Amino acid sequence: MDDLIEKSTPVIEFRRVGLTYPGPPPVAALTECDLTVRRGEFISIVGPSGSGKSTFLNIAGLLDSPSSGTYLLDGIDIATLKDAELTSLRGQRIGFVFQSFHLLSYRSALENVALAMIYSRVPRKERAARAHEALVKVGLGHRVNAPPSRLSGGERQRVAVARALVARPSLLLCDEPTGNLDSVNARAVLTLLKELQASGMTVLVITHDQEVAAHSGRTVAIRDGILREHVEASL
Ligand code: ADP
Repeated sequence: MDDLIEKSTPVIEFRRVGLTYPGPPPVAALTECDLTVRRGEFISIVGPSGSGKSTFLNIAGLLDSPSSGTYLLDGIDIATLKDAELTSLRGQRIGFVFQSFHLLSYRSALENVALAMIYSRVPRKERAARAHEALVKVGLGHRVNAPPSRLSGGERQRVAVARALVARPSLLLCDEPTGNLDSVNARAVLTLLKELQASGMTVLVITHDQEVAAHSGRTVAIRDGILREHVEASL
């Protein structure tokens, strides 16, 4: 399916996207945001608590719909889709990585990744091979049989990244992916995200960690629900 997407079509295109929670009182959590994320970018959205990061993530990840504006994901206007179509598009096009790894403790790394395909169209017999391939991609080919309890925090997050990649999404959407990690493991996860970008993946990270932002190709600040492209001070 990915072959059918024009390489020049942005992965994310927000046109005046906003979300006001109805309240009372109404809260304008995101205000008329314009944002274009191109294929192969590594972009971070940085902002303090309450600035609208989760609201942005929920919209970008098709977990919530904007109350105004237009969101095109891979060129598809999501306002034209029914709920079931949104769910299916989310499963095919977006891989999620969270701060907490959300792994099943009594399952191996391989099983954790393979379980992500349980509701997919991937034939049962292909799932283990696909899971193995994703674990090799994140540098865990030698640890496929280990349960999460025998892995470091960084390795657990790498399993979570492998799980997000296994459906071969267009976009890797990461919510504070280094938030639970010490600096060494955080650095390793960042390196992995950069490697994935180098192999063509589009990576969007929501964070309040300036270190993460410094490693991404592009930083957008969010404050009071307003997105602003980060421009280096020229003086
Ligand atoms: P962040 O993730 O950066 O902490 P959020 O996107 O969670 O910020 O919140 C942005 C603003 O929207 C905050 O003022 C928050 O209180 C408000 N908000 C978040 N969710 C809701 C909701 N379901 N109903 C009303 N207001 C909300």
